[in-house]
Amino acid sequence: MVAKKKVGGLGIGSIRAAILGLLLKWIHRLKDEGDRLWALVVKAIHGGGRNWDTIPCNRLVSGPWKQVVSTLEDIRKLGIDLFKALRCRVGDGSLAEFWQDNWAGVGRLRDVFPELYKLEKWKNVKVNSRVRMVGECASFNWEWVSNSGAGGLGELIGDCEMLLGEVKLTDGRDRWGWGLKFVEEFEVGLVKEAVQERLFGSFEENFVWLNWLPIKINMFGWKVVQGRMPVCVELVKRGVGVDPTCPVCEVENESVGHRFLGCSQANHIWSGIWQWCRLPLLSGNSVGELLDAVWKYPMGEHRRKLTYGVVVTTLWVLWTARNQKVFDRRSLGVDEIMGNIKVLSFLWLKNRSKLGNLSWENWLYSCGC
Ligand SMILES: [Zn+2]
Repeated sequence: MVAKKKVGGLGIGSIRAAILGLLLKWIHRLKDEGDRLWALVVKAIHGGGRNWDTIPCNRLVSGPWKQVVSTLEDIRKLGIDLFKALRCRVGDGSLAEFWQDNWAGVGRLRDVFPELYKLEKWKNVKVNSRVRMVGECASFNWEWVSNSGAGGLGELIGDCEMLLGEVKLTDGRDRWGWGLKFVEEFEVGLVKEAVQERLFGSFEENFVWLNWLPIKINMFGWKVVQGRMPVCVELVKRGVGVDPTCPVCEVENESVGHRFLGCSQANHIWSGIWQWCRLPLLSGNSVGELLDAVWKYPMGEHRRKLTYGVVVTTLWVLWTARNQKVFDRRSLGVDEIMGNIKVLSFLWLKNRSKLGNLSWENWLYSCGC
């Protein structure tokens, strides 16, 4: 009844969403005005000790702040990742916390790299203590609880440094905003809208960082959604002298949308995937919209994650098949590509999801059922 008219509701605003929005404004201000007196007082009362959370709250101290923080739980129950939505645009990195704040655009680094976070010596360390600018490039300054423990995590550290490779610290102040579209001022209306849309329908397209896939594959998917792929059309834009025509179908120009959705090869693969996953033909105008449609499709949590993992794996395999054509002059057939998707997704998802009942025989037959 309270859903917006365009998604079939009666258009009555949800009071609950409005209240959540107001309370969240305080959490935003605590971040954005982190060095102001009131914020320091809240942190002095609620922070410190063994509480290494993004928002300080001492459960033993009653009062209004505790009430504000308890809304976080409500938000979480709605399936909104507050720590991802509350974005930091990093300036000099003196306020933003390296592991606790979403300053790199992928959510909290503690959630993306839990193994590294566990080994971090100072859980609340600021961004500027870990990242230093050497000329135009970021360099990293790690401090681990145990160096022998960090020794085995070299690859993860490399992934993390690669993910943050394009970060630039400036002289400006760290600022916090809400949502994917960065807004200078926190607007209660925007939170209200997000809460309401989450409750009753459409939500902004976004890339979901899925722990069941390797970090490299997550990074790849994230770049595809942002359109940051070296497809022919993009190369031409950057002045590289290549033919913009799609190297696979040789019919249309190769844009990101064409590579992963529009190309006849991609079309064949996707219809095979939906059949295998026992889903209707899901689609979208962009890869982000497609991923969004998959994530929002009504199904159980395990199946949702497995299906999402398969879809991101499909993007990866489509990309590697394209590169084989370009660099090795080898064309893969639809069956071979489907086979690669099934093998890789099984290896990755079985290993990382720790779902004991995934068997290869069942997987080959159908994904996620
Ligand atoms: Zn094509």
